[in-house]
Amino acid sequence: MNVIFLGPPGAGKGTQSKRLEEQYGLVQISTGDMLRAEVARGSDIGKQAKSLMDAGKLVPDELIIAMLHSRIGQPDCAKGFILDGFPRTLGQADALDKMLSAENKKIDVVLFLDVDEDILADRISGRFTCSKCGATYNEVSKPPKKEGECDVCGSHEFKRRADDKRETVVERLKEYRNLTAPILPFYEKTGRLYKINGMLPTAQVTADIEAVMAGK
Ligand code: AMP
Repeated sequence: MNVIFLGPPGAGKGTQSKRLEEQYGLVQISTGDMLRAEVARGSDIGKQAKSLMDAGKLVPDELIIAMLHSRIGQPDCAKGFILDGFPRTLGQADALDKMLSAENKKIDVVLFLDVDEDILADRISGRFTCSKCGATYNEVSKPPKKEGECDVCGSHEFKRRADDKRETVVERLKEYRNLTAPILPFYEKTGRLYKINGMLPTAQVTADIEAVMAGK
């Protein structure tokens, strides 16, 4: 089973795709995480991507398509994958279709997490993660049970994404509106697009996703 998560930044794609990964034994592929790893390694890809990411802009299609192509060709993806943050342009959606059909594969489900734009900036600027185990938190909706201490591993160190600053978030939302939202009709036409209300409590969103997956 191959799944795509679509939705604006801060919609909960990362959280929900990690849950699906555990439950269905699929591999989560986050192009944002892959790029952040390239930036941290100081690779050529990382160098090309960093200034665009810091400015809240999308990185060029050619770069991201090549990176994704080599990732989904790896053996662990044979049992199925979840794309989180890809495709983000019509060019990427088209390239994905072509690379999958060349291998007799397809996308089975496209889950669109729908969240009103006016609540996204607050959601994103409040989020942070444990530096040690990666557990995710939000200042408003999901603070650690004990202030300053990770619920999962007890660490006292947390980090925020450089591009979660308010100024950058405005730009990321603009890129979403102009370049990513237009791919929704592309997947609507396939009959495999499912709209999920991403403004409900996280557990309810998970349950709604599970209901779609159960019918597959
Ligand atoms: P994310 O973690 O998915 O929010 O992605 C963080 C940043 O990485 C984005 O703001 C873009 O600069 C870049 N990025 C991630 N995925 C893509 C993609 N599919 N196409 C273009 N840029 C991407």
